[in-house]
Amino acid sequence: MSPLNFDTHFQDLFDHSSDLIQFLDMDGKIITANPAWLYTLGYTLDEVRGRSIYDFMMPATQEHYRQYRADVVKLRQPGDINFNLLSKSGDEVVVEGQVGCVYQNDEPQYTRGVFRNNTQKRAAAMAMAKNERWLATIINNAPSAVVIINELQIVLEWNPKAEAIFGYLAAEVKGRPLADIIIPENYRKAHARGMAHFLATGEGPVLNKTIEITALHRLGHTFPVNLSISDVKTETGWIFIAFIADITNFKKLQEEVINREAQLLQSQLMNDKQDEFLSMASHELRTPLTSMKGYLQLMQDTTDESVETDSAIFLSRAMTSISKLEKLISDLLDVSKLKANRMEYFMEPFDIGELLQECVENLQQTTISHHLNIVQSLQQVCVADRLRVEQVITNLLSNAVKYSPDAQEVQAGLQVEAHEIIVYVRDFGIGISQEDLANLFQRFYRVETNARFQGLGIGLFLSKQIVERHQGRIWAESIPGKGSCFYFALPLNPGTTISTSE
Ligand code: ADP
Repeated sequence: MSPLNFDTHFQDLFDHSSDLIQFLDMDGKIITANPAWLYTLGYTLDEVRGRSIYDFMMPATQEHYRQYRADVVKLRQPGDINFNLLSKSGDEVVVEGQVGCVYQNDEPQYTRGVFRNNTQKRAAAMAMAKNERWLATIINNAPSAVVIINELQIVLEWNPKAEAIFGYLAAEVKGRPLADIIIPENYRKAHARGMAHFLATGEGPVLNKTIEITALHRLGHTFPVNLSISDVKTETGWIFIAFIADITNFKKLQEEVINREAQLLQSQLMNDKQDEFLSMASHELRTPLTSMKGYLQLMQDTTDESVETDSAIFLSRAMTSISKLEKLISDLLDVSKLKANRMEYFMEPFDIGELLQECVENLQQTTISHHLNIVQSLQQVCVADRLRVEQVITNLLSNAVKYSPDAQEVQAGLQVEAHEIIVYVRDFGIGISQEDLANLFQRFYRVETNARFQGLGIGLFLSKQIVERHQGRIWAESIPGKGSCFYFALPLNPGTTISTSE
């Protein structure tokens, strides 16, 4: 095999070089270009030979190239150049390399350019730069503090949220050890131990989960944060990305909720205790009262009532007081029954006009100050618990008398409207303000300014419960200083069952 001659050597290099090689005459016309040049730009040699190099160059880089080439020719010192060629299909080809000039008798003859195709490298660099910008946008706008440290715990990244939460600017903390900045002194040793343990074993119990810890602010105070750390292995070692959220407000809110719940529980307990006490107390009170009433009745039986002796008068007064006490105790018992859902109802048909009449007559016997008038009535069969409805009417009538000390009349009435029986009791007494009207039917509610009138504030509460268990409604209208009118309505054709909800 004969050794290749020098020309063949160069021809082979020219043909097989991966670099783009071009020869131009001094006017910039292409003398020749190698296969890599032609292949990259998509031309045949015939298509380019004799044409200006500037026909194959991106306009933006033409002037730069022209200047560079002129310098090379003049100064004979080739340097590096970057410029962009243009392929047949219109793609930009980014190249980097050198141009040299060949002289004969000091006269420049032609130039030779050798370039690397950097298109992909440039695209990758641009994509990387874009990714970095994109990442920076995300980190800068993250709702949490983002702090990145390396395995020496040096802060690499500190986003604006971290600046806001910890009070340090990025420029102040980047390059400093994290432990000195945001970890409270008493946690620093544990943090260093954890880091050393991770680097030695790859185990990090706090990694990749959210934990609640205490952080240190620039001003020296500590505050609670949620912290999630991810570990990432890079070419230069481990980095740790921490996402940190200030949870001071959340903790405050949580504490408030817990306190409120505790208070609620406490008041619920108090309520339960009150109910229990109410039920026990009323039972305990009723037993001696029943025997007192029995003895008084025995005495009454042995006393001649036709003769108005002192003892007969005292006995009758004692009996009246005992009846009042009995009524109070039975109301209290009713309240505890209601709370425990143990109130029983016995539904029966009866004439409600007759019942109203009876209630008015009974109450009239206990008062001489007022005249109780039925101003409207009719015979109407009603299906309800007669005793409970009597309790409601009597309660409204006695309130009307009690809260109209300067009046002489109380009116009662009964009418049927649409599908309801409406009973009302009107007085000309002290009246009730709008604010109190809204609360009257609550348990133990009493109008503050009415302390001079005795009562427990349960009559209207019981009345409302009774009426509502009959699927009815109860309400009041009033003008302070002029008087009030209380109404209750029962359905004309009640359902066969009593409503059991409170
Ligand atoms: P009590 O009369 O035992 O206090 P009630 O539940 O019957 O309890 O009444 C609740 C409150 O409503 C009373 O304390 C009183 O202030 C007010 N009230 C009830 N009826 C009348 C009325 N006819 N006129 C003015 N105020 C009334």
